Amino acid sequence: MKVATYRVGGERRVGLIDAVRQTVSPFDIPESEAQLGVLALIDRPSLPRVLSPMPLKEAVLEAPIPRPRRNIYCVGKNYHEHAKEFASSGFDSSAAAGAVPKHPIIFSKVPECVVAHQHPVLIDRNVSQAIDYEAELGVIIGKGGRGVRAQDALDHVWGYTIINDVTARDLQGLYSQWLIGKSQDTFCPMGPWAVTKDEINLSDTTIKCWINGELRQDANTTDLIFDVPTIIATISAGVTLVPGDIIATGTPAGVGIGFKPPKYLVPGDVARIEISGVGVLENEFREYRA
Ligand code: MG
Repeated sequence: MKVATYRVGGERRVGLIDAVRQTVSPFDIPESEAQLGVLALIDRPSLPRVLSPMPLKEAVLEAPIPRPRRNIYCVGKNYHEHAKEFASSGFDSSAAAGAVPKHPIIFSKVPECVVAHQHPVLIDRNVSQAIDYEAELGVIIGKGGRGVRAQDALDHVWGYTIINDVTARDLQGLYSQWLIGKSQDTFCPMGPWAVTKDEINLSDTTIKCWINGELRQDANTTDLIFDVPTIIATISAGVTLVPGDIIATGTPAGVGIGFKPPKYLVPGDVARIEISGVGVLENEFREYRA
């Protein structure tokens, strides 16, 4: 099931996507609940009924969870080839510099930087000269828990989405912690919708990213250093996960910083990320104006 949060006639709704017919059918929930986006479904004990479909093109998509309740957990350097390109870039400020990490590197992005599919991502040249893209599979937690074992971890997953973990590389390099470089306003495009976990086969999910039509990232979740169950077990060891938590699982090789010279984003660039079983997340980068 593909579930979108969208706006129609000024009202926010949550609906079921029919990708073949290109329609969206709103769930029969109060508008006050729909403000939560997909969280409204995760919070409910059973799925509400759906109302009549409407053409998808008449809906303005929002991020599936427009305002996460907590910071988005992220995993750094979690694909083998990306760990190599990042280590050789000279920007690596992490403790495990130069090596594939022995344990997952976990950081976070603030919830306020989430934006929707086709929402502009803002480049503020007074703050950063090195904006980069990171195509990632996002995990949405459905059942919370502490001390979740890896073998049980997928029982805690509600579904998945696409995240562009946009990064200011210069800020990431300048500060030991990555939060500022990762949490700039608009730096977390998410969407175009969320899918339930049955829509994805984690042992064969492709992740691709094009910049202005040029294929830059092309990988499979089988290349992950730490798989989804391991990530969930790692975070939940002492930190209680709650329903609606989001985990960005890391980006494969092919980010801008991996090129010599680096290919940073400039206003007018368009990042298009496709993950098999989910869909396409596309965002244009624009210059920030105060
Ligand atoms: Mg990332």
